[in-house]
Amino acid sequence: MSKAAADQTARGSATLPVRDGEEAWTNEEVAELRTELTDEIVRMHRAIAAAQGELKDLLREAGDGAGRDPADVSSTNFERDQEMSLAQNAREMLEQAELALRLFANGEYGYCEVCEQPIGKARLQAFPRATMCVKCKQRAERR
Ligand SMILES: [Zn+2]
Repeated sequence: MSKAAADQTARGSATLPVRDGEEAWTNEEVAELRTELTDEIVRMHRAIAAAQGELKDLLREAGDGAGRDPADVSSTNFERDQEMSLAQNAREMLEQAELALRLFANGEYGYCEVCEQPIGKARLQAFPRATMCVKCKQRAERR
């Protein structure tokens, strides 16, 4: 990215919305949030790779498992399920973080994807991946 483009991004991203009564975002806070999302994406890629590596090992073990103790087999199955749900969670978090970063780039970050109201600074600082306000999120979870 050229310096001019970087400057523009920095300026443009400093306009995240806030809810009534919240202080405006500072450049530092916006930059921090962005860094957190980027770090999260890196972490999730790593977590997925690690879980996939574990799964491969478990499958290999299961593959040459002729004559194995049934207790070993069931603990391997348990571990495999654990790794699969870990990988699944990481994948979902990765998708959310990537979506948030895309919205960031489009200047749409910080607005609830359902009611289009500001998600709020406090919530975004606690959950940078949030793409829904608290109310809409709760409603979505009740469904
Ligand atoms: Zn909402």
